[in-house]
Amino acid sequence: MMNTKERLKEYWDAVISNRIPPHAHFHKVEDEIKEHYSLLVWAWKSFLLPLIALYLILGIVFHNHILGSLFLSLLVFFYSNFLPDADVLVNRPENNERKSLWYELYFLLCLAPIFLFYVMKGRANPLYTEKPKPFHNFSAAIIWGAFLLIVSSLFWPDDTLKKLMLPLFGIAGFSFHLMVDGILNFFWMKNRPDTDRDKK
Ligand SMILES: [Zn+2]
Repeated sequence: MMNTKERLKEYWDAVISNRIPPHAHFHKVEDEIKEHYSLLVWAWKSFLLPLIALYLILGIVFHNHILGSLFLSLLVFFYSNFLPDADVLVNRPENNERKSLWYELYFLLCLAPIFLFYVMKGRANPLYTEKPKPFHNFSAAIIWGAFLLIVSSLFWPDDTLKKLMLPLFGIAGFSFHLMVDGILNFFWMKNRPDTDRDKK
């Protein structure tokens, strides 16, 4: 893995960086891609791989066919990884606007695509809260997990393993975003690669 990463960086430096004129500010994009690549490798090794292995082992132990739901759980992981940034749709009240109720905010959190649909049709009421970045905390991850538990209970009412794994993947994806943003830090996550965001 390490070698692939180094090779990609070398390739990037040799082939792309040297050809970009110095006045073009591409280095920022370049840094972002390098940063994301190392984070992706790190996420794969310390997050997804153990989680997938756990699911596969439990599937074998309980004689459960989990491949379909594993695929679904992976999709949920990637989706959850972007979800905390849904709070860019929540504004700070500046002219005495009515502050949104908690369930209005969590409707956005749990059903972001539906909310977005209404935003695009111009039919969504703007949301307001005093709290900066309301979804960038672990309680939002837990609420998201609880919502996924309801969904998975509807999908697999008699299958405890599948019922529990979907929210677990969701919380993991959500937490991964919080870790990249430097909000969450677990002791076994200390070897996370440095990102630009840490330096700000
Ligand atoms: Zn974020």
